Amino acid sequence: MDLKSGSPYWMLKNAQAEFHPPLEHDHRCDVLIVGAGITAALIARELVDAGMQVCLIDKRQAGWGSTAASTALLQYEIDVELQALARQFGMDDAVLAYRACEQAVESLVRLARPMRDVDSRSMQSLYFSSHWYHDRRVRREGMLRKEHGFDLECLESSELKERFYLNAEIGLLSAVAAEVDPVQLARRLLTAAARKGALLFERTQATEVSPTARGVNVKLANGKRLRCKHVVIAAGYESQAFLSERVARNRSSYAFVSDPMPEALGALANCVVWESARPYLYTRTTADHRLIVGGEDDAIDVPLKRDASVGKKAETLKRKFSARFPAISPDIAFAWAGTFAETQDGLPYFGAHSQYGPRVHFAMAYGGNGITYSAIGADIIRDTIQGVAHPCARLFSFDRGQGS
Ligand SMILES: Cc1cc2nc3c(=O)[nH]c(=O)nc-3n(C[C@H](O)[C@H](O)[C@H](O)COP(=O)(O)OP(=O)(O)OC[C@H]3O[C@@H](n4cnc5c(N)ncnc54)[C@H](O)[C@@H]3O)c2cc1C
Repeated sequence: MDLKSGSPYWMLKNAQAEFHPPLEHDHRCDVLIVGAGITAALIARELVDAGMQVCLIDKRQAGWGSTAASTALLQYEIDVELQALARQFGMDDAVLAYRACEQAVESLVRLARPMRDVDSRSMQSLYFSSHWYHDRRVRREGMLRKEHGFDLECLESSELKERFYLNAEIGLLSAVAAEVDPVQLARRLLTAAARKGALLFERTQATEVSPTARGVNVKLANGKRLRCKHVVIAAGYESQAFLSERVARNRSSYAFVSDPMPEALGALANCVVWESARPYLYTRTTADHRLIVGGEDDAIDVPLKRDASVGKKAETLKRKFSARFPAISPDIAFAWAGTFAETQDGLPYFGAHSQYGPRVHFAMAYGGNGITYSAIGADIIRDTIQGVAHPCARLFSFDRGQGS
């Protein structure tokens, strides 16, 4: 599967990377992580800190999967509004998921802040109503979140125009959000894990995962074998290839980055913005004062077709952005697209699947705020391997909604 099209900003920014040679012999370890993107990197950190002997393999280079295509807004707000999530799972679970995401954003900021070059910044997050017929719903969402203790302000159209140059009737301004360079964050985490003994092998592909009574055998594309006590499948959207059940649908998402425009950004320099329409338009800035605009998701799952759409989609994103923010005129410096996957209910999957039993753990951080999910998933998987109950394990499991 080709996960990206065009020129993802982070690949251009972080073109030089240390290469880790492939695994060319049989090997044993406590935990094998399949994948070395941001999800795997966060999991490796947790497992190594818990004293486990960890090995990671990636069929590409570390961070060069979907992580490189990510626009990396870190938000506690799930693609599904709190009120809609509560209708599916009940209010307690909906608040549990939102609260876990809020804590995950805060812990990602704490984790990334001391790291070099990861461009981590705390931000605000503005969610605006896209249409007059969403206004009431967005107001209700704001009240509900406030009722449950989330720190946000309801802004009317005059304030949105004055503070954010934004044309919209109502917006919810949340205090907790962040931005990061996802490739650098993954690399820094992997380097730190390697310093503590983790092994990383690139250009190394897992082809078969076979649990046994006391462990798991993994076969590689080059014929070599790994034997471990646990396997974590953190292979991003390609994790689905290991499951016979379809748990998510693949989509394509598009983005462009502008040239640096320090004078023009105003309050957007400290705020990520998204909207109530689906698919949603969203925007963030970068440490060097560029604007990233993303959205225009579609059901294309054919890389060649997606490659051909990148230019046109970027123009549409620019037009839609300009209609919302008439005072800001970004030029398109680079545009790209990436595969992402959506689950039916908007929540990720972390944990064991009945197809493999308890020693094979899936880390499928699917959804618009995938990186936030990855941080929660890293804790869930660490706790599960250690036999500790995590408060979100059931809600993010394959068995959710089955009364278990
Ligand atoms: C355009 C776009 C914008 C996005 N914006 C945001 C955003 O603003 N905020 C946010 O939180 N999330 C966002 N996401 C989602 C986010 O990027 C993903 O959730 C995240 O990057 C997934 O990371 P991962 O490590 O799970 O997957 P990946 O980065 O894809 O890593 C998985 C790795 O597994 C490797 N692999 C696959 N199969 C095998 C195998 N068989 N053997 C060995 N290795 C294998 C791959 O090579 C890959 O490197 C966005 C995604 C896209 C595409």
